[in-house]
Amino acid sequence: MKHILLNITKSYECDVLVIGGGTAGFPAAINAARNGANVILAEKNGYLGGTATAGLIGTFMTCYDAKGEKRLINGFYAEFVNEMVKKSGAIPPEKTLTVGKYGGYRFKGHFGVVPYEIEVFKTVSEKMCLDSGVKLLYHMLFVHCEKTDSKITKAYFATNNGIYEISAKVFIDASGDAYLCDKAGFKSEIGDENGEKQPASTFFTIKGVDEEMLDTHMENTTEMRSRFFMDEIKKAQETGEYPCGTLKLRIFKSPSEKWYVNMGQEDEPVNQFDAEDVTNAEISQRKQINVMIDFLRKYIPACRNIELVETAAEIGIREGRRVLGEYTLKKDDILSGRVFEDTICYCANSIDIHKKNNIKYVPTKDDVIYTIPYRSLVVKECDNVLVAGRCLSAEREAMAAVRVMSPCVAMGEAAGIAASIAARKNIPARDVNYNELKEKLLNNGAYLGD
Ligand SMILES: Cc1cc2nc3c(=O)[nH]c(=O)nc-3n(C[C@H](O)[C@H](O)[C@H](O)COP(=O)(O)OP(=O)(O)OC[C@H]3O[C@@H](n4cnc5c(N)ncnc54)[C@H](O)[C@@H]3O)c2cc1C
Repeated sequence: MKHILLNITKSYECDVLVIGGGTAGFPAAINAARNGANVILAEKNGYLGGTATAGLIGTFMTCYDAKGEKRLINGFYAEFVNEMVKKSGAIPPEKTLTVGKYGGYRFKGHFGVVPYEIEVFKTVSEKMCLDSGVKLLYHMLFVHCEKTDSKITKAYFATNNGIYEISAKVFIDASGDAYLCDKAGFKSEIGDENGEKQPASTFFTIKGVDEEMLDTHMENTTEMRSRFFMDEIKKAQETGEYPCGTLKLRIFKSPSEKWYVNMGQEDEPVNQFDAEDVTNAEISQRKQINVMIDFLRKYIPACRNIELVETAAEIGIREGRRVLGEYTLKKDDILSGRVFEDTICYCANSIDIHKKNNIKYVPTKDDVIYTIPYRSLVVKECDNVLVAGRCLSAEREAMAAVRVMSPCVAMGEAAGIAASIAARKNIPARDVNYNELKEKLLNNGAYLGD
């Protein structure tokens, strides 16, 4: 492979550098800054949110237990949601505790979701970053890093003005696919033992849904196949009017007139690290969506008059690298409701593995709630790197449960606070005193057990 040497055109220094401003990254940056660190958040897009905004997801999965009775994720997540609610850009979870349009008319695990407006997410997250003193640098594509035996010292970013370098005391890899850890050569895993990964999907939004008609259909239909139009989808598949994709109607109401649609799917694995492969997938998803719109108009009575509003700016990647940390969160920890001594958040999302033609959904028992330990955010092979979000240290099934956005926010919050402590005390991230971290999380209003 040919190496190209480029000049460094700009240099920065900070206490904590957060790479990636998705649902885990921006809370990490804000919480590190609020705890006294000088923070830079470097993001490749021109806005925050990552999959939450560029991927048009639109609905935070629940922050409650499976029955929708006990609120588990609070703290910074609650603050962020409240700020969006104030701008009429989100529905608070207390208002979505029953089966209904905001939860895609689904039952268990869909009580207490938070639908939000993409533009409000972008504006509120950005304002909160700026208000807390985070220096935002957009259009920065992380490409390389420099390290010693135990520490990363610098990260390099490709920009249209050449290469920028940033030195930091502590780094948080919140890039979704753990690009920093990968470049540093830290161990990670991806997919299952055969390399199988969850399919990639492009979300899109529609307007013109006859809400009353859809509500009535859902109220009067309890049987799964009819409720989610599975026979219509099967029939249309046979006639070539339905592309590959999910085999159920999966639409979620936004706070405004739009609905988020999560029905497209690339059945063949997409290599998100290869520009050519991901380009093909983007093209294929856009084609699928146009066929899907015709299908919805023809086969779903409440969608007869829908219009496509927009497709996501980027295809959604469900599964990427899981970095080896001080502790690997296990499937059994989730199913047995393990409570760790260094818990940073409680959650109850089921193990939800999307597959070609079906979803391997392993519901947690009604009374099971589980926790994420701080050690799953601490990179094993390095002293000054934390991970947050879907690249945490976890078995595949465990990641498939905690990858949803409310736990990602909680992971970012904890990683940010811990990074600020590590930077201030000049200690390895693994030596951050859990009681100090816990106290700060509790001050934020986090639920860390009764
Ligand atoms: C199709 C799909 C449907 C989903 N549905 C739901 C749902 O309904 N509800 C729910 O709660 N969750 C859902 N999820 C899961 C959830 O959206 C993600 O797991 C979560 O948003 C991941 O957050 P993150 O911060 O770890 O990563 P991301 O959101 O991917 O953020 C990573 C950030 O890093 C940036 N970045 C990446 N590479 C670089 C680089 N080299 N340099 C600089 N910046 C970089 C990205 O631009 C991005 O902003 C869904 C996911 C997908 C893909």
